[in-house]
Amino acid sequence: MSLPPCPQCGSEYVYEDANHLVCPECAHEWTADQAAASDDDGLIVKDSVGNTLQDGDSITVIKDLKVKGTSLVVKVGTKVRNIRLCEGDHDIDCKIDGIGAMKLKSEFVRKA
Ligand SMILES: [Zn+2]
Repeated sequence: MSLPPCPQCGSEYVYEDANHLVCPECAHEWTADQAAASDDDGLIVKDSVGNTLQDGDSITVIKDLKVKGTSLVVKVGTKVRNIRLCEGDHDIDCKIDGIGAMKLKSEFVRKA
């Protein structure tokens, strides 16, 4: 069984101590459970119907959304590929054809 690299410094010299993992290089300690969840930075973002979204997912917009500061509207049904989750009120970072990079609220999208 191989251990995951240190989530803090990326060291490969991680060892297991009792029920947690220890990095000898930066002294970071964590549990295997946390390591498994760190794939998505511990961030859990769900769409309008409760599906868990992940970086790289494709989503569909379920509501016309005005783009702040412009007269553009992201129409209902717009498909958005390769989203990136982020923290905050608008928790999806993405790029929409014809509009460019913008942020969406997960409550207004559905996993495609
Ligand atoms: Zn480390």
